Amino acid sequence: MFKTVIGLEIHAQLSTPTKAFCSCPADTFGDTENTAICPVCTGQPGTIPVLGEETVRLSVMSALALNCQVSEISCFDRKNYFYPDLPKGYQITQYFRPLARNGFIEVRVGNGRKSHIRINRIHIEEDAGKTIHEGASSISASGKQGGTLVDLNRCGIPLVEIVTEPDITSSREARLAMESIRDILRYIGVCTGDMEKGALRCDANISVINTRNGQSSNRVEVKNINSFRFVEKALDYEYKRITQAMKDGKEVVKETRTWDLASKTTITMRKKEEESDYRYFPEPDLPPLRITGSYLEEVKKMLPELPDEKIDRFMRDYALPEHDAVVLVSDKELSGFFEETVKVTQRPKEVSNWLTGDLLRILKERDMTVGQSELVPDHIVDLLRLLDSRTISISVAKEIFSECVRLGKMPSNIVEEKGLQQVDDEEEIESAIRQAMKDNPKAVDQYRAGKKAVLSYFIGAVMRRTKGRADPAVAGSVARRLLEDD
Ligand SMILES: [Zn+2]
Repeated sequence: MFKTVIGLEIHAQLSTPTKAFCSCPADTFGDTENTAICPVCTGQPGTIPVLGEETVRLSVMSALALNCQVSEISCFDRKNYFYPDLPKGYQITQYFRPLARNGFIEVRVGNGRKSHIRINRIHIEEDAGKTIHEGASSISASGKQGGTLVDLNRCGIPLVEIVTEPDITSSREARLAMESIRDILRYIGVCTGDMEKGALRCDANISVINTRNGQSSNRVEVKNINSFRFVEKALDYEYKRITQAMKDGKEVVKETRTWDLASKTTITMRKKEEESDYRYFPEPDLPPLRITGSYLEEVKKMLPELPDEKIDRFMRDYALPEHDAVVLVSDKELSGFFEETVKVTQRPKEVSNWLTGDLLRILKERDMTVGQSELVPDHIVDLLRLLDSRTISISVAKEIFSECVRLGKMPSNIVEEKGLQQVDDEEEIESAIRQAMKDNPKAVDQYRAGKKAVLSYFIGAVMRRTKGRADPAVAGSVARRLLEDD
């Protein structure tokens, strides 16, 4: 038997207007290379970093939302290493005295169960730039083939690094923990959580213990994972690789690996460096950061209701199943829309069905958010009313709903314009069935010979003739009557 031990280090980009230590813009995604830079963030001699206020506020908010104890005094340090995208030759971080410690999150693992994952520390640090490896087919300015370019736009962008304890016991739980941290940071507005734009990424540490003999493998780190799916896949792959090595009596090398998209495996990046390799020492250009009690209180007041509390409240106050509550709450805007609509209709489960089913599907197809759509709560109120009065059938309701989302028209207006009122005129249904019987006498014979499933053919024919406006139950009973009588 093998037991998995996983810890995560999550890097989240803070949504500040400026970089951590200069006044360059922090939102540089899509900008031309090396345009959002200045002497400070490119580390030119004689420049002095100045800590931005928003960087402090957003990182303190993150710490509070993750139930951490915020240190009264925290300090900045230099993490030294050489890399072309790091012009200073060091990264400013908080090593010896981090901003906050000893937090936790409660991760929902399904069936109402929560798993308690401790957070070791949260610290502030700056991001590095980016190297762009040109293919061999490109020609550089000097006429050479290929080469590497450097983009320093990301240098100095403020990050919080969130380090969990190794409390995670499966790849799925690692994914859920990462999602849950992303949701929390998005809720409190400190990070967009946009992984495609590099606003959130994660390193995962994994080791495996053989429970029979107590032997533990070395720890392997998978670096720079930028998708929830990949964190799960990379850890699954590592678990298999490590347990196989242990079974074969081979040593698991302590190293840093990376998820390779093409081969769907992890590959060696480098042998794991020791912390001492970075020669950390205090950053002499930045004074210690002091967080007073009154400042903490002020920031606490800015914290909105957090996702976990909201899920509990949705289950309690609206009697929603956990799954509905989790889906609604995972999108703050959607959960707000849900509450607004329920205020008017008082029918939470039906509203939730429309939002978590049809709405999310349409939004996904059109790659938009609920706020970008044309849907307003009144549309759903109107739609439910039309269904209650049996003015429209459920299939027509679905069609109308999609138009509300796209065009913002009132359902009753769409019904009026297009004449979509439900056909409960039995005569019209009857004539549709008689026509179908005439068109397909074989089906009639089959039904009369006892093949009752053929009934659905006649219901379908009615729905086609009435363009989905007939009530299928009525169509069924009329068809049965005609087929059995005549
Ligand atoms: Zn700058």
